[in-house]
Amino acid sequence: MGLIIRQEDLKAIIKMAEKSAVEVCGFLFGRGEGGNFIVEEVRFVPNRLNSPTAFEMEPVEMLQAIDEAEERGLEVVGIFHSHLKCPPVPSGRDLKGMRLWPVVWLIVDEKGNYGAFVLEGDRIREVGVEVV
Ligand SMILES: [Zn+2]
Repeated sequence: MGLIIRQEDLKAIIKMAEKSAVEVCGFLFGRGEGGNFIVEEVRFVPNRLNSPTAFEMEPVEMLQAIDEAEERGLEVVGIFHSHLKCPPVPSGRDLKGMRLWPVVWLIVDEKGNYGAFVLEGDRIREVGVEVV
């Protein structure tokens, strides 16, 4: 099981993370196929906490993003956000979010490192990222 994402999409997320003084966040829309998650579209949503150490998607834009994706037949396959000056692995706060949103969590840092994670029961498992 892994996340399949186009290089330009991953680059776009990392570029935003590099430029931003706060965590950036949003959705990975696409479809599941053969146990993998294929990202068709990246959608940024403002971080309403405006924080360098935490994120919460702005709720109205969040729902709008999901509606628009569903209209095009895409589903939420993942959530992405950035970490600043700390490794791209889930924080304690992220773990709570992963319980609410049991999808793939892609985390990038401002240096271009990244990792993808899922919650299995109460354990976090890293999954592969295939850049195509
Ligand atoms: Zn985080």
